[in-house]
Amino acid sequence: MRVGLFLIAVLINLNIWSQNSGDYPLDIPIILSSSFGELRPNHFHAGIDIKTKGIEGFKIYSIGDGYISRLQITHGGNGKAIYIKHDNGQSSVYAHLQKFSPRIEKIVKEIQYTNQSYTFRKYPKKNEFRISSKEMIGLTGNTGRSTAPHLHYELRDEKDRPINPMKFKSYSVNDTISPILLGVFYKNFRIDNKGAFQYDQSGFSKLKIKKINSSLYIADTLKTNGFISFGVNSYDKMNNTQNKMGLSKIISKNNGKIIFEIDFNKFSFDEWHHINNFIDYSTYKKSNFRIQKLFIEDSNPLSMYKRDLGNGIIEIKNEDLTSIYNIKLYDYNDNLTEVLIPITAIEKSYDEGKKIGLKDIVKINNDSTYKFDLNNSSIHISKNTFYHNTAIEIYNKEEILHVDQDTIPLLKPITIKFDVKRYNESIKDRMFVAKIGKENNYSFISNKRDNDKIIAKIKTLGDYKIKLDTIPPSIKILNLEDNQWVSDLKKLKVYISDKSSGIKSYNGWINDQWILLEYNPSKGLLTYDFNDNINSSNTRNDLSIKIEDNAGNISELNKVFYREIK
Ligand SMILES: [Zn+2]
Repeated sequence: MRVGLFLIAVLINLNIWSQNSGDYPLDIPIILSSSFGELRPNHFHAGIDIKTKGIEGFKIYSIGDGYISRLQITHGGNGKAIYIKHDNGQSSVYAHLQKFSPRIEKIVKEIQYTNQSYTFRKYPKKNEFRISSKEMIGLTGNTGRSTAPHLHYELRDEKDRPINPMKFKSYSVNDTISPILLGVFYKNFRIDNKGAFQYDQSGFSKLKIKKINSSLYIADTLKTNGFISFGVNSYDKMNNTQNKMGLSKIISKNNGKIIFEIDFNKFSFDEWHHINNFIDYSTYKKSNFRIQKLFIEDSNPLSMYKRDLGNGIIEIKNEDLTSIYNIKLYDYNDNLTEVLIPITAIEKSYDEGKKIGLKDIVKINNDSTYKFDLNNSSIHISKNTFYHNTAIEIYNKEEILHVDQDTIPLLKPITIKFDVKRYNESIKDRMFVAKIGKENNYSFISNKRDNDKIIAKIKTLGDYKIKLDTIPPSIKILNLEDNQWVSDLKKLKVYISDKSSGIKSYNGWINDQWILLEYNPSKGLLTYDFNDNINSSNTRNDLSIKIEDNAGNISELNKVFYREIK
């Protein structure tokens, strides 16, 4: 029996990856840096991130027959990405590519020159561009919002919902380590006079826990009374990597009966921002760690919960003796970490919620709309902007519009308006809305002018201000002098930057013909590939580059260079 188990273990270990098995997109061993469903800012991770040994350029293969349903290049997000709709109805997505395959690169160039834009999103017709299983479609890279080279790989079901590829495929990762537990929290709930639970911000207290072994913890006895529930701070660790990953499933039991379950293996894109209601948002924003709530607020529509178990809130009554609350944390290989929390009832009513006394604080009833007029500014809040009724602090002091702080998640943007009537006409056009960050850093918020008002829709609470930017972007050509002969130059490199409002657009022309400039925002680098052969019939070439910032300042640069006709 023992020998048999050992053999099975060895076989499983050998099968950590199978080369070109047809359902794995790379031919290097699989080690993840992010798991499916992992907790991210404002969303759950919709795919898996496969490590590429810290470098770019590994071949990517389609996991099945199908057609290109979407091709895109964005400065942020997925960067260079291919979406394939497969003949079985599922889709796969490959993102942050360095390059597309030569065949796809040709399609991409044509789109870019037609649109006159480096970035684009294109949805080709069904079967217009067929892709066969195991076809090489591109090389791994680091484009878009990516901090290290890797392949972001997604699998989606027939309804375009992301599903965990690890659950449906033949390969598996090496993970024998049970989830890491960093903290267990509990929280008391108040009930209003209609019998509804009051979901105040945070209010969590940390429980003392004792480690029994690497996968079992026991908490100090919790003495409390009334309606309570729990939260955990936990992540998963896999073998051969230091990255912190997400859990696969959390179950909690009260006196042996399952009362809460969340499964991270499937969700849909229209619900993924509700992660802000699954975690305690205020703790996350203030202390930068995530308490995963083991209860469901009435306003939380996430489909990942097992709803028929109820809302996960339990009542501790005076007559109850000790009960045991039990949290089970699972990873994708079903490694388990467990916490036992003994609870005894005491006769005590906990503190009432914080009293609101400051005059800057306004109560927001979630089924009403609000307009607040402040100095040279106003705030407009529509119905159901928040998850539930709340109170926020607002004021306008020293030109800063304070709309509370980013500790309460929003379901909808809030409109803010700044009156700029008092400013000189010549500078009004160069003003923009900025969000003030830490240490007086600020970032551009997209806005529009309406006569004497500058209007922005803000997606997070915080401090906002009108800023003035009259300085045009800077442009510097790195490898070309005026009137130079550059017959062998393969790529033109241009450095651009803008100190205040940021780059809005960039365009280049050679002899009045638009050229494709590939932009790498983190390096501030524009690259033109001379293989694109724009105006290759002239020896004399007039290069022109035009950059605009978000406040409408424009910089232009013109240079003449010469190339042999080949
Ligand atoms: Zn990813």
